Amino acid sequence: MKELKIMVPSSEQCSYTIKIGTDILPQVWEQIEGRFGKKGKFIITDENLAAAGHLDKLTGEREIPTFIINPAGETSKHINTVISIIDEMEKCALGRDTIVIALGGGTVGDIGGFAAAIFKRGVPVIQIPTTTVAQADSSIGGKTGVDSALSKNAFGAFWHPAAVFIDPATLKTLDDRQYRAGLVESVKHALIANSDYFEFIESNIDAILSRDTDVLETMAVHNCKIKGAVVEADPLEKNRRRMLNYGHTIGHAVEQASGYELLHGEAIAIGITGAGLIEMELGLGTKDRLERIETLLKKIGVPVSIPGNLTENKLVNLIKHDKKAVQKRPRFVLIDEIGHIHQKNGQYALNVEREIVENVIKKLKNR
Ligand code: NAD
Repeated sequence: MKELKIMVPSSEQCSYTIKIGTDILPQVWEQIEGRFGKKGKFIITDENLAAAGHLDKLTGEREIPTFIINPAGETSKHINTVISIIDEMEKCALGRDTIVIALGGGTVGDIGGFAAAIFKRGVPVIQIPTTTVAQADSSIGGKTGVDSALSKNAFGAFWHPAAVFIDPATLKTLDDRQYRAGLVESVKHALIANSDYFEFIESNIDAILSRDTDVLETMAVHNCKIKGAVVEADPLEKNRRRMLNYGHTIGHAVEQASGYELLHGEAIAIGITGAGLIEMELGLGTKDRLERIETLLKKIGVPVSIPGNLTENKLVNLIKHDKKAVQKRPRFVLIDEIGHIHQKNGQYALNVEREIVENVIKKLKNR
């Protein structure tokens, strides 16, 4: 089992370990007991994790109070689910000496983390991520929350986990489209922080797509190191952490305009391609570099152009109103080379002229 430590300087939970290993799920409970034995335990998971047998692998013969989110996925990521979870925790007579265990993808992690953050003014949470998104990204970093009727993550809190356990074998049962879309988070990490990691993904893409757990373990270590370093430096997203938004300005607009028909990673793949075109316009990138990135995204099987049914006007409008825009001038995170983020005056997000953005949207649509 590989072990990494993340230091989170400004939070109450000042450091946590991430343990990574194939088929560790059946041993995780003993580790939790070893460290948090005196605490009451409460598991939050969803119907698919239970059906795939992951919940049983975690608990074994033990009877642990559990809340199973049903239906699984984003439609349950709202405040009423959190209310039901907290009601259930109270029915189980759990108090401040409770630890919440979130077993699942980013949805379960975000809901479970948020429920833990507000239950009795906050109890610790352990994240056990089971999707390519959650193992690369959402389980590390402490962002938790649920959606409102109007926007994603409208209710939320920074609530860093007490521990993270990553078992790449859990990915074997994940749906193929979800699996592939989530790999874009790893590509993003490589692009912003580590060119060797980018090369590793390129040269191991077949093994990655066949879910070879040795390769997935190596990826988990890279992802946790990259995200961990950014979170350590900026736990509350004041500046540096914004580099994780690479591909997000166009990506979010495309995701929203598609009515969330596109998965997040699919939209971010389009956003990364868009960022590459902007880099070319600004003299920060070359055609060859963009082609190399696109080749990898295409092998993963995610889109690199804007679907025909999304209009340019709608996208430009959404980008203008992006939460990161300043005076309607969209802001972009860009790279100067693979593995190296572009910075200007210590800032990781750059204003880009609207004409350039409009041009790039046109190109992204007609390729
Ligand atoms: P998800 O959690 O919605 O899971 C996708 C589907 O796969 C669900 O139906 C789930 O039940 C199923 N599933 C999960 N693991 C499985 C497994 N091992 N085997 C079989 N089925 C499995 O998807 P996701 O992409 O992991 O998470 C998306 C959510 O994560 C969004 O709400 C997004 O906002 C959030 N997110 C949060 C952060 C953060 O920093 N907190 C970062 C990125 C994304």
